Amino acid sequence: MAELVENLYLKYLECRNVSTDSRAAQDNTLFFALDGPNFKGSAFAEAALVKGARYAVVQDPTVTGPNIIQVPDTLKALQDLALHHRQQLSIPFIGITGSNGKTTTKELINAVLSQKYKVLCTKGNLNNHIGVPLTVLSIQPEHELAIIEMGANKPGDIAELCSYALPTHGIITNIGKAHLEGFGSLEGVARTKSELYVHLDKVNGAVFVNTANEHLLRMSRRIEKKVTYYGPQDDYSAELLQAAPQVIYRAANGDTVHTHLMGSYNFDNMAAAACIGQFFGVPHDQINAAIAGYVPTNNRSQIVRKDTNTILLDAYNANPSSMSLSVSNFAQMEGEQKVVILGDMRELGQESEAEHRLLGEQLSQQNFAQVFLCGHEMRYAAEVNPDFRYFAEKSALEIWLKDHPVRNSSILVKGSRGIGLETVVDLL
Ligand code: ATP
Ligand code: MG
Repeated sequence: MAELVENLYLKYLECRNVSTDSRAAQDNTLFFALDGPNFKGSAFAEAALVKGARYAVVQDPTVTGPNIIQVPDTLKALQDLALHHRQQLSIPFIGITGSNGKTTTKELINAVLSQKYKVLCTKGNLNNHIGVPLTVLSIQPEHELAIIEMGANKPGDIAELCSYALPTHGIITNIGKAHLEGFGSLEGVARTKSELYVHLDKVNGAVFVNTANEHLLRMSRRIEKKVTYYGPQDDYSAELLQAAPQVIYRAANGDTVHTHLMGSYNFDNMAAAACIGQFFGVPHDQINAAIAGYVPTNNRSQIVRKDTNTILLDAYNANPSSMSLSVSNFAQMEGEQKVVILGDMRELGQESEAEHRLLGEQLSQQNFAQVFLCGHEMRYAAEVNPDFRYFAEKSALEIWLKDHPVRNSSILVKGSRGIGLETVVDLL
């Protein structure tokens, strides 16, 4: 086995570019033919080589050729290769997990640390058992620091990702009700995320903890060494001044920072990035400038100004924690008449009905001019109050908005990615 990895590593050093997507193969690519649920990866080995890949790694013994490398299991080989590469590197590795805010926090940390270091960070959302090894393998000799996003759907996932990414530093953004289907309960979520702390404790690594989060604080108490806290009066302390439409906060050095992100939960993400920046010796004015300059993409926490409306667009994702915070931040925001357009919170399993009802109750207590709810799960929220306008299908909501344009309003648009609520922005 060790010989197989050694051999693969030599090929990797020749190529320095690893891909599992034959369409993305180029010269110098080491292509891994992974099997998918509905296809055999080896079917793409030839295509990758034609596109210019230097080698194709396959597990199908019937596929042979001069640039074909046979292994018993391509996924395992990819992960073992990543671990081997990781073991040759002595730079800090910051692992990020959590129910929400991983990508945003990763991007903010990247913005902050890039002020001082040559940083490699996870591209987009490549945070699973394939994305993490690919990310590790994309680290080049010039990189001084790596930031690795780690996602989890079920117990054991984070421990597995740690076993080949070997983080030296880590942060859990929060523990919330995301992917409850796979975890069963909030306790299950907490235990899985804490696998990062367990790993770091074992390797004498450093942990960054948000003291405003009770779960994390409790979990971090079990770690004996190297904990850096952020929160009021902690190792890094900042103060939220305004949560919506965009976050404004007072940084640790007293400066007021105006950002492009909305919602108090994003303030937590910023405080995490600033804390880590301070830990790694980035000067405060550079930390603040990096956070102020960060503009979100991908329908995450974006502020969109239209002719007469201001839209707070967060259609990338929704779960009970972020939904509830978004609604209360929005309710507290000053300004003209407020409208909310919310879509289903998906993947909640058995908790779905109760969580949507709870949201309905929260919405009922606010004084919004109009409440639009969309999607099959939102029916439970809609039942709470007859004043809510409910649409099972997004197409029906779109027709309504075309016929009854919303004007002169602040509008919160949020829902799970599956609903794709960002398309309503064109109608507002
Ligand atoms: P994924 O599981 O898709 O990788 P993620 O953890 O990377 O998600 P982001 O993409 O950064 O999270 O953010 C997704 C959504 O989660 C945001 O649009 C926002 O609604 C919400 N969110 C972001 N940060 C937090 C936070 N600290 N606490 C609660 N909700 C948050
Ligand atoms: Mg993500």
